[in-house]
Amino acid sequence: MARYTGPKCKLCRREGEKLFLKGMRCMTAKCAIAKRAYPPGDRKFKRRSKPSDYGKQLREKQKAKRSYGVLERQFRRYYHIAERQGGDTGENLMRLLERRLDNVLYLAGFAPSRAAARQLVTHGHVEIRGKKADIPSMLLRAGDVVKVRKGERRKKLIEDYRQMTTERGIPPWIAVNPDELSVQVLALPKPEEFSVPVRSNLIVELCSK
Ligand code: SF4
Repeated sequence: MARYTGPKCKLCRREGEKLFLKGMRCMTAKCAIAKRAYPPGDRKFKRRSKPSDYGKQLREKQKAKRSYGVLERQFRRYYHIAERQGGDTGENLMRLLERRLDNVLYLAGFAPSRAAARQLVTHGHVEIRGKKADIPSMLLRAGDVVKVRKGERRKKLIEDYRQMTTERGIPPWIAVNPDELSVQVLALPKPEEFSVPVRSNLIVELCSK
C-alpha cells in the first residue's frame, strides 16, 4: 500500500499541532512546531482567520490520516467499513485505525513512530500465531498476540525505544510482555482510549457528503 514520503514536519505545521511523525525528534527542541509554529507556505499570503465548516471538517480528516499514515483511498475504505458496521460511524472509523498492526506496535513502544513500526512489519520482523505478518494495515482482533521475532540487535533496539517511550504510556486495551517482545490485544479500544484526539463527527460529516 502506498504511503506518504514527503516532509513530515510540514504536516504537523499545517495542522498546527504535534502529530509525532518523527519518533524521538518530536520530543526534543528540534521539533519544527516548537521552532516555526505557523503553517508552511509563503507568509505574504494571509489565510482566512476563521475557517469555514468545510475547512474544520477537512482539517480533522487530514489530522487523522496523517497521524495514522493512511492515504485518501485507504481512508475512504475504512470509512465505508465503519459505515457498514452500524452504530457510531466516527467511533467505528477511529477503532479501525487504532486496530492497525503498525499502530499497535507503536503504542506498545516497539517503535518510536508509526512509520518506524510500519517498517518493522514490512521488513518481516513480526509474527502473529507463529506466522510472519508483513502487512502494516492488518486489523487486529481481541486476543491477538503480536510477537517481534528474536534477534539480539533488534531486542536491544526495542528495549531502547521502550525506555524512551515510557512517558507516552501504554493504553489499557493492550498488554505488553517486554521479555517476550510481544503485545496482546486485550479488547477493542473505547473512544476515550483512542490515541489520536480528533473530532470524528466532523470527519463523518465530510465523508458522508
Ligand atoms: Fe511533527 Fe515530530 Fe516534526 Fe515536531 S518533530 S513537527 S512533532 S514530525
